[in-house]
Amino acid sequence: MNSNSHIYTKFCQCCNNPISENDLECPFCGCEVDIDEEFYSNYPWALVYTTNTLIEAEMYKANLEGAGIPVNILSQVDTSRMFTVGGLAIVKIYVKSPFVTLAEQIIKEINSSVNHNSN
Ligand SMILES: [Zn+2]
Repeated sequence: MNSNSHIYTKFCQCCNNPISENDLECPFCGCEVDIDEEFYSNYPWALVYTTNTLIEAEMYKANLEGAGIPVNILSQVDTSRMFTVGGLAIVKIYVKSPFVTLAEQIIKEINSSVNHNSN
């Protein structure tokens, strides 16, 4: 089996800064890095964004995953109602809790470049 889809950003266990996959010591504090994927697989999913279109959610997901962030989309579209009106369909974007700040920054950047008529 060839699974090369695990592109995760690691975090220093001393200062909690994001570090490169290949770093053996933290470039921020010099702490020796001893983190495997289980380190953050133990973290809960945290809600970072809510939208009402799955297309938009997928767009954010692609961008977040591109930054190495584990993303989970939870769609609360009521499948018993085929004709969803406006805000009835809610799509929630979750990331692992250590990635919340980074994810929010990325979403903010996307919004500021996409949203032309913000007040
Ligand atoms: Zn560190």
